[in-house]
Amino acid sequence: MPDRAVTEAGRVGVVGAGTMGVGIAYVFAMAGFEVFVVEPGAKAAARAWAILKETAAGAVSRAKMTAERAEASLSHIRMIEGASELPDELDVVIETVPERRDLKMQVLAEIADRAPRLIATNTSAMSINDLAGAVRDPARFLGMHFFNPVWSLKLVEVVRGAKTSADSVERAQALASAIGKATAVVADSPGFATSRLDLVQALEAIRMVEEGVASPEDIDRAITIAYRHPVGPLRLSDMVGLDVRLDIARQLAGTIGPHFAPPRLLQDMVARGELGQKSGKGFYDWATETTNRNAG
Ligand code: NAD
Repeated sequence: MPDRAVTEAGRVGVVGAGTMGVGIAYVFAMAGFEVFVVEPGAKAAARAWAILKETAAGAVSRAKMTAERAEASLSHIRMIEGASELPDELDVVIETVPERRDLKMQVLAEIADRAPRLIATNTSAMSINDLAGAVRDPARFLGMHFFNPVWSLKLVEVVRGAKTSADSVERAQALASAIGKATAVVADSPGFATSRLDLVQALEAIRMVEEGVASPEDIDRAITIAYRHPVGPLRLSDMVGLDVRLDIARQLAGTIGPHFAPPRLLQDMVARGELGQKSGKGFYDWATETTNRNAG
C-alpha cells in the first residue's frame, strides 16, 4: 500500500509508456506521487519498467537521491494494461499515446470514463478543441506538453482549449510545480508556441543538409556555439524522433501553411526506418553513442 507521503502528494495516471510516458511517470513518482501507468504491450511495458529502474539507478549513482528514496518511489508505480483499470477520480490522467487522432480520441474517451479531476494530453501539435470532443467534460481537459527527456527539461506548456476552465489551468500549473517544472500557458493554436517555433528551425536545418550547405555536425556546432543552444536542431530532431517530426510537419503544413511542408530528405529517412536515436540511426549514428539519460 502507498505510504502517507505518497497519498498526500496525489495520484496520477499516465496512458502510453513510450518515450514520453516513461519520463512523465518517472518525474511524478520521484516527486512522491502514486503513479498508474497504462501500457497494453507486454514488451513495451517491460522496456518501460527497465528504463524507470535504470534511470533511478543512474540518479542514485550520481548522488541525486538515496537508494532508499529511489526504491520507495519506484514501488509506487503500478503498470496496468488498460485505461479501464485506472482507479476513479485520480488527480490527473495524462494521455501519451502516439500522435494519431483516432487513437487519441479512443483513449481519451476511456480515460474520461474514470472521471479524473483533470485530463491532459501530451500531444505535440493536435488541436485541444478537437480532442476535447472525446471527453464528457471539456472544462477539465487541456494540453500538458512535456519535453524530452522529461527528467531534464523543466518546461510544461499548458494548452488551454476554448472550454478549459480557469480552475483546470490552475490545477495543471500546480501539478507541474509539484514536479519541479515551470509552465507557459498558451491558447490552443496549431503547434502551440514550442512545437511551432522549434519546427521552423529543424525543417530549415534539414533543408540545409539537403542543399549541401553544411553537414549536420557543422550546423549543430554553429547553433550551439554561436547562439548557445544546448543542442543543435538536427541532434534534437534525432532525439525527438524523425517520424514524430514528420507527423508534426504534415499537421502544421495543413493548418498553418506550406512553409511547414516536410523536406524530401526527412520523408526519405523515415521511409528507410532512420528515425533517430530510437532506431539507432538518423542524422547521427546513435549505435556508437551513449544515450542521454541524465535524470535529475
Ligand atoms: P511512443 O511511440 O514512444 O510511445 C507511445 C506508447 O503508447 C507506446 O508504448 C505504445 O505501446 C502506447 N500505446 C499505444 N496504444 C495505446 C493504448 N491504446 N493505450 C495505452 N498505451 C498505448 O510515443 P512518444 O514519443 O512517447 O509520444 C507520445 C505523445 O507525446 C505523442 O502525442 C507525441 O507527439 C508527444 N510528444 C512527443 C515528444 C517526443 O520528443 N517524443 C515530445 C513531446 C510530445
